[in-house]
Amino acid sequence: MSPERYQRIRSVLDKRQTDLTVCLENVHKPHNVSAVVRTCDAVGIHRVHTVWEKKYQFRGGTAMGSQDWVRQTNHDNIGSAMDTLKAQNMQVLVTHLSDSAIDFRDVDYTKPTAILFGQEKYGATDEAIGLADQDIVIPMMGMVQSLNVSVAAALVLYEAQRQRTIAGMYNNQQLPEEECQALAFQNGYP
Ligand code: SAM
Repeated sequence: MSPERYQRIRSVLDKRQTDLTVCLENVHKPHNVSAVVRTCDAVGIHRVHTVWEKKYQFRGGTAMGSQDWVRQTNHDNIGSAMDTLKAQNMQVLVTHLSDSAIDFRDVDYTKPTAILFGQEKYGATDEAIGLADQDIVIPMMGMVQSLNVSVAAALVLYEAQRQRTIAGMYNNQQLPEEECQALAFQNGYP
């Protein structure tokens, strides 16, 4: 690996936000999962959480596009995913079209935050909604009721990125050095 390539990798890893994450609950179409993971990489998310219940028959395996650079943790059920996220003191936001949901732009994403996105057809489960700290919604003004899940993820994550950029959160390395080295090694360094 050339020194330039290593520098490029380091500059990416140095911006990773370990306290911002996404949880995909039964999002099962591989192209949607790949698109969300790609956006996570672009925004600087280090780890994505997934829950795939058998009935949704996720067919994508681990082929999630940017998986070389974004770590993935799969959970057996939403309860276990929520326990993990809350143990990290994250505020858990669920994207959900409901009357109690607040506008996604009215949230402080500089706090440790996990954002949950629901299944393509049915949305987030009642269990996830009940366990989350807050529902958030992307206002809809047209005839369609909802956005594609990967589009919704991009909008929310780029608002988080905007706030974190203003707060200077991309200027300080968050990822432990061993993890930076492990990712660089896994991707061909030295
Ligand atoms: N009928 C489902 C429902 O009522 O939740 C629609 C699911 S939507 C196609 C799939 C996922 O995209 C949702 O679970 C949510 O994560 C996200 N999503 C789509 N449009 C959204 C919006 N306007 N506000 C918040 N989340 C949205």
